[in-house]
Amino acid sequence: MRDFNQAAIIDALKFVLSAGHKPVALHEPHFSGNEWAYVKECLDTGWVSSVGQFVDRFEQQLADYTGVKRVVAVVNGTAALHVCLKLAGVEEGDEVLVPTLTFVATANAVSYCGAVPHFVDSEQATLGLDPYKLDQYLGEIAEIRGNDCLNKKTGRRIKVALPMHTFGHPVDIDPLVEVCRRYKLELVEDAAESLGSYYKGKHTGNWGRISALSFNGNKVITTGGGGAILTNDEELGRQAKHLSNTAKVPHKWSFIHDQIGFNYRMPNINAALGCAQLEQLPNFLKSKRALAQNYRSAFAGIDEINFFTEPEFSKSNYWLNSVLLNKRFANQRDSLLDATNSLGIMTRPVWTLMHKLEIYKSCPRMDSLSVSEDIEQRLINIPSSPYLSGHL
Ligand SMILES: *Cc1c(COP(=O)(O)O)cnc(C)c1O
Repeated sequence: MRDFNQAAIIDALKFVLSAGHKPVALHEPHFSGNEWAYVKECLDTGWVSSVGQFVDRFEQQLADYTGVKRVVAVVNGTAALHVCLKLAGVEEGDEVLVPTLTFVATANAVSYCGAVPHFVDSEQATLGLDPYKLDQYLGEIAEIRGNDCLNKKTGRRIKVALPMHTFGHPVDIDPLVEVCRRYKLELVEDAAESLGSYYKGKHTGNWGRISALSFNGNKVITTGGGGAILTNDEELGRQAKHLSNTAKVPHKWSFIHDQIGFNYRMPNINAALGCAQLEQLPNFLKSKRALAQNYRSAFAGIDEINFFTEPEFSKSNYWLNSVLLNKRFANQRDSLLDATNSLGIMTRPVWTLMHKLEIYKSCPRMDSLSVSEDIEQRLINIPSSPYLSGHL
């Protein structure tokens, strides 16, 4: 058996990243459009806060782009997920099925509802929730009573399945929709990472009853901080706007709030940035695909690693590029992370799995989370800013 050839991997990285300025970040925002003009307009007119034309425009343009009926812009992706789960009917004491391989915000949003995340495994081909393994698992632990899916072990209701499109790669949604239908679960998509990603020709976020996007500084486009709620259900869209807007009943002068709402509205100044970024999204996506292609070619002859490519039924935004170490070299992950970061090439492991975090380790979970654990041991994210392809 050959030794691990770390130098070959680093040479390939350096070759692809020759346009990068050191240190090469994992994902940097890029502002080369109307950002200054639109933000200046907010300052010149005084419309910087929670009302303004850029909020409406950003919501409409996002709806047009993703093909959903209604979009509500909010302060960040986590807030968007919180509202999505509330509107999907998650109540205190419910369980929500969450991939253990995700960013902590997915599980936190569940906790904010007083509900309990229930961790499930991912599949190798998508890095996202495995619908077949879930189906089998629910067959063992779930019982349908009336319109509810009960967890026979905990006695709690399982209300929602919350898949996440990891690094922009869509999960296999069709079979998941089918599982949710049979087990009477609502589907909510954490599409925080997948703006610009399509499953069988349709934009992610269209399958769940309601879905969440993020525009944090490291995402495909940014509003500084920001998020959005997507839905094809007009009534849910109306409720999302209401709930993220302190649940204030519209009136000329009186302050009536008919629920305990949230102050989650996106400020106009952030939406201005968002409008300018959205205009550049098609270019960002083109550049990101070119970068992914460059990586794929550069790593083609190196057996130590596999460059992760989009699942066959999808078109990914390639938000974060990733490589998987060959199984027999899994023990080299940390040394490769050390070497690349020392050279000013920012690389990162995947998130610590949710069921291993102290805060979530006592939550219900599948007995076997073996695929997620395997991915955790072998996956490394590599620099993915769109400018790195040399095309911006
Ligand atoms: C970024 C992200 C979020 C949360 O978005 P914020 O805007 O940072 O609150 C949620 N889920 C996933 C998977 C993310 O990557």
